Amino acid sequence: TQRVFTFGKTKSQGDASMKDLLGGKGANLAEMSRIGLSVPPGLTITTDTCAEFHTSGRQLPPGCWEEILEGLRTVEAEMGLRLGDAAAPLLLSVRSGAAISMPGMMDTVLNLGLNDACAAGLAKRSGDERFAFDAYRRFLDMYGNVVMNIPHHLFEEQLERIKAERKVTEDTALSAADLKLVVAKYKEVYKSRGKVFPEDPYEQMRLAIYAVFDSWQSERANVYRSVNGITGLKGTAVNVQAMAFGNMGLTSGTGVCFTRNPSTGERKLYGEYLINAQGEDVVAGIRTPEPIDTLARTLPGAYQQLVENCNLLEKHYKDMQDIEFTVQEGQLYMLQCRGGKRTGQAAVRIAVELVDEGLVTTDEAVLMVEPTHLDQLLHPQFADEEAYKGSVVGSGLPASPGAAVGQAVFDAEDAEAWKSSGLPVILVRRETSPEDVKGMYTAEGVLCQLGGMTSHAAVVARGWGKPCITGCSDLQVDEHNKVARIGGKEIRQGDFLSLNGSTGEIILGKQPLAPPELAGDLGRFMKWVDDRRVLKVLTNADTPEDAEEARKFGAEGIGLCRTEHMFFASEERIATVRRMIVAQTKEARLKALADLLPFQRTDFEGILKAMDGLPVTIRLLDPPLHEFLPDGEMTEVCEALARDAGVTVDEVYSTIEKLQEVNPMLGFRGCRLGITYPEITEMQVRAMFEAAVRVIKAGGKVQLDVMVPLVGTAAELANQESLVRRVAKQVMAESDTVVSYRVGTMIEVPRAALQAGAIAKTAEFFSFGTNDLTQMTFGYSRDDIGKFLPIYLEKGILVNDPFQVLDQDGVGELIKFAVERGRASRPDLKIGICGEQGGEPQTVAFLHEVGLDYVSCSPFRVPIARLAAGQAAV
Ligand code: ADP
Ligand code: MG
Ligand code: MG
Repeated sequence: TQRVFTFGKTKSQGDASMKDLLGGKGANLAEMSRIGLSVPPGLTITTDTCAEFHTSGRQLPPGCWEEILEGLRTVEAEMGLRLGDAAAPLLLSVRSGAAISMPGMMDTVLNLGLNDACAAGLAKRSGDERFAFDAYRRFLDMYGNVVMNIPHHLFEEQLERIKAERKVTEDTALSAADLKLVVAKYKEVYKSRGKVFPEDPYEQMRLAIYAVFDSWQSERANVYRSVNGITGLKGTAVNVQAMAFGNMGLTSGTGVCFTRNPSTGERKLYGEYLINAQGEDVVAGIRTPEPIDTLARTLPGAYQQLVENCNLLEKHYKDMQDIEFTVQEGQLYMLQCRGGKRTGQAAVRIAVELVDEGLVTTDEAVLMVEPTHLDQLLHPQFADEEAYKGSVVGSGLPASPGAAVGQAVFDAEDAEAWKSSGLPVILVRRETSPEDVKGMYTAEGVLCQLGGMTSHAAVVARGWGKPCITGCSDLQVDEHNKVARIGGKEIRQGDFLSLNGSTGEIILGKQPLAPPELAGDLGRFMKWVDDRRVLKVLTNADTPEDAEEARKFGAEGIGLCRTEHMFFASEERIATVRRMIVAQTKEARLKALADLLPFQRTDFEGILKAMDGLPVTIRLLDPPLHEFLPDGEMTEVCEALARDAGVTVDEVYSTIEKLQEVNPMLGFRGCRLGITYPEITEMQVRAMFEAAVRVIKAGGKVQLDVMVPLVGTAAELANQESLVRRVAKQVMAESDTVVSYRVGTMIEVPRAALQAGAIAKTAEFFSFGTNDLTQMTFGYSRDDIGKFLPIYLEKGILVNDPFQVLDQDGVGELIKFAVERGRASRPDLKIGICGEQGGEPQTVAFLHEVGLDYVSCSPFRVPIARLAAGQAAV
């Protein structure tokens, strides 16, 4: 097997399609070389090799080193330089790069190949001693840090001391002689830590390659993969590449740029650069970078090349690109390109504009926006941006848009601790490092004193759609004492803070949020999505308000209305429900039910009106009755209930006792209630149909679907169905109105799935209740799964939480079986799903394949389900 792939002017062995094997960086370096951009030549060691390296106890597989050397020869030939040759020294970068980009999580070493002799040779050959020793001190620092585990700050302190002695603030102000001194001091740092700097460049290269492989397993890389759900990768590739020098004076420099704005999507180069610097300087925030526009003035030739390259790359990749470049004495070199991470807002705008520019088709555009992007767009915004103006205490760079509200904390550990006790936090830092990822992930938003728009915090936050403000010079963060000062105010740990990541405003206090809207570019985009979609998207809504909200998000009906949620809406309602439960005679129960009817009717009327003829699926009473009883001390509870219902305390006590269950989820609930107490079903059905009649009489349209829960046998459904039809007929006759309705059932007991053929003889529709179906298929109690699920996920026994992502192999098989049997006995059977998983993209794609008619999910997930359904159909 080939383990090393070279790229260069004359020949590149890899290309963009080989990301799994060469990593994203390696594959794209090869591709850029292929299409003729100027890329320093190099070689890529495969991700497979990384896996072998780790399984064989940190050893390169046999023959691999020879392959590396062979690749190195082609690089040397193209450059006319040789590694370790003092007369013509080749310098290398050794870079990580996995198949999925993990910004800043793994290691890179620059300027490799230097020792005293080669540094002198480099000075002589370039005629620039200052440059040569600048490269040397950078190498000693990075190599010490990445390969030798010497803390970076030890080097930093030496540098700062010499800068202070010379009374300069910028590294670039140090002379060649100063830098020689820095080099000498750095070597002492190695000694003081008992480390030996390898003088042999080949040994340097070998150890750097090992270090990059090791960084794949580092704590922060593991955390990053786990928070981002990145699984199944083999390892990182290693790219060994000739250096391009951005530190050769005022006609050199380095920068990063996006071909479009990654926050807003605007079509305009967006990025930063530094003159006379190397790559890491931009990201590390040591010097303040310049905005990319000004490169047109400082290095016009290079800027022109950059613009041309960006256009070429967008045409080639048909997407917005994130680019790293270096200018060496006026000549531009491309060092990296990849599809740029972007916010939801940018994703939609870019997809729409690429269609308008003729670069992608609408089909391709539909696939360019991820469900998580839409999720971000649907996150709340500030209710009123004018209202908080008085509380704005300062502003920084709008690094990642959106509104965030939470309590200030000053380190990643506090962020996690507060969040796990249920408190939303804003992480406030001087700067963030890759160690902070988990804290950033748990925070609602991130505020950083330092850093630019492309700093670590900004890139990571944008990837998650988390509001972030960086580069806030008015802010003084004292992490040690957990306090920040801004605009004459103090922010202490626990103080409420609001961030507007779209404007960069920092606002004191807890500002009110409001839901977002689906208009403009998003409206156009969703139209393309809907044009392709086969699955209908309904919503789960229990109140008229939810129903209206969901229609705004594009819901095409209600797939699940849980009527009992409305029992808790007022004291009066719940008291009536309790009277019904403790009633000792049928008369008393009928009286309580009669009192309950108007409440239900009002709610149903509101919901039916909001949906105006779209299907509204109302489920009959489902939960065990004891869920409606009050909590508290038993004798007090019984006395209160007895007083209110006009029965004796003993009677209440024995009723409650009878309702106690060992296993309530498998107990007296669902259709078992309506079969035992037909009067409950009768009341509910009457309320539904009377509501329908009112809506129709007021000129509205109605499609009412009555749904029987927890059916396991055809006879259970038949029992309830005849009841429903009898009451329906009565109400329609009384009011002389025809209501369009269907009777159907949930499929949530495994037996119902197995008996789908028989059940479909009665049922006009099926709705898979995948919460219960998952619970009963696995035999996992949904409320107790927390005890073992984390362990199952960690050990890989389960890949996902089956209550969030449908278990396609097990529960999915039952669904397929039931669909097939159901449709065989009733070809026009309407089939949908109403569990939590109904809005989850992988699940939606699966259900599209299985041929369901609709999915139903919570109102906020409706657009996500629409997108997933549209994408599944492309
Ligand atoms: P990351 O994946 O963390 O961005 P990179 O491998 O891209 O790491 O490298 C880190 C920095 O080093 C980047 O800013 C890049 O521009 C710079 N760099 C990498 N290779 C070279 C090279 N061959 N010449 C000059 N600079 C380089
Ligand atoms: Mg990079
Ligand atoms: Mg259920």
